[in-house]
Amino acid sequence: MKVAKFGGSSLASVEQIEKVVAIVKSDPERTCIVVSAPGKRFPEDHKITDLFYEWHKLHSMRLSTEEVRGLIYQRFAEMSHEFFDDYRMLDEDFAQIRQDIEDGASADYAASRGEYLSAKLVAMVLGYKFIDAAEVIFFASETEVDKQLLFDALKNGPIVVPGFYGLTPQNEIRTFSRGGSDLTGALVAAALGAAVYENWTDVPGMLMADPRIVENPKTITALSYRELRELSYMGASVFHEEAMFPVAAACVPTNIRNTNDAGHPGTLIVPESSVDLAPDIITGVAGRKGFAVLKVEKAMMNQEVGFVRKVLSVLEARGISFEHVPSGIDSVSVVVDRGTLGNGFQALVADIKNSCQADSVELEQRLSLIAVVGRRMAHTVGVAAKVCAAVADVGVNLRMINQGSSEINIIIGVDEADFETAIRSIYKAFVAS
Ligand code: ASP
Repeated sequence: MKVAKFGGSSLASVEQIEKVVAIVKSDPERTCIVVSAPGKRFPEDHKITDLFYEWHKLHSMRLSTEEVRGLIYQRFAEMSHEFFDDYRMLDEDFAQIRQDIEDGASADYAASRGEYLSAKLVAMVLGYKFIDAAEVIFFASETEVDKQLLFDALKNGPIVVPGFYGLTPQNEIRTFSRGGSDLTGALVAAALGAAVYENWTDVPGMLMADPRIVENPKTITALSYRELRELSYMGASVFHEEAMFPVAAACVPTNIRNTNDAGHPGTLIVPESSVDLAPDIITGVAGRKGFAVLKVEKAMMNQEVGFVRKVLSVLEARGISFEHVPSGIDSVSVVVDRGTLGNGFQALVADIKNSCQADSVELEQRLSLIAVVGRRMAHTVGVAAKVCAAVADVGVNLRMINQGSSEINIIIGVDEADFETAIRSIYKAFVAS
């Protein structure tokens, strides 16, 4: 069986839900459907989840909630009218929600109702059974799924489960972080041992580079969960960053698909062993601005046991995590996310200098990192040379280079001003040819 999760844009309107119905009904293996709350229909529109948060906020400030309630009610009533010629199909649920919020229900409860109502509506439209996520997803020390309940329900036919929330041990509704319906889908797909976890969204899959930087980048046909982790860490993400972990652990492949182009195969994310060789050496290139480098120098550093530990413990004491630590004989650089440094970086520099008795400590800001990722890079001669040449060809100075031991990524650091030029040149060197 397949678990198919549909995102907010796939459920935003009657036309979109009709596409969802066609997709679901075209494959009898799509028996477990996970849904988000309706998203935006056009750029200035509101997401239902945002409206629910707003409703809760206005209520807690004792301000009028009439307008926001009206907006939410109208969205669902219109859809229920279109499908069933009856705009009151969800009235009882709506009345209950209103009462619960007025009785002091939490913001998480309010936010979860977008998915709850969406799943109820989609279940009625499909003629499938609605299963409340509060009966299936449990927040304990780890998030747990009631597999048995799902299997039992599936014996009687296909089901629809709302994404985004579950139940705490205190029997309260809790949501995941924003975009968390992806995680519900992944947890359910892992628990059921699905043949595939389909994540239906509004993009054609994962792209080999950011389309705002590289014109018309190719779609990645297949990649491994490890490659996905490397690329999404650098910002190239198509779904919730935690969603890959349950499916990867359960060896369930994920297929990113486009509801607006259902015939396109999208991107398949698979456990390492089953990856087919793609035509390109690299799988993708992604990067981020906003890093800083602490350059620490000390003569004979290489012979001083515990030197790097001392540097890192200064960062640890301030709750700053590091990204990379390239080193030389008498120097070590620590790359950190600039945002985590706050305003106190002068004190930090002084602190490292004192506690490590360093000869010099300098902080360089405005570094960007670019990751060139690909499982085929391992054991291939000349990949780093090609990356360096691509950067040199466009006159960009390479500030740092780092290759992970798995050899599936090469990370380079360039000045923020050179970021886009470097990415375009690397993409062209590996892909366009
Ligand atoms: N509706 C929630 C949000 O807007 C969760 C989701 O769509 O995945 O964040």
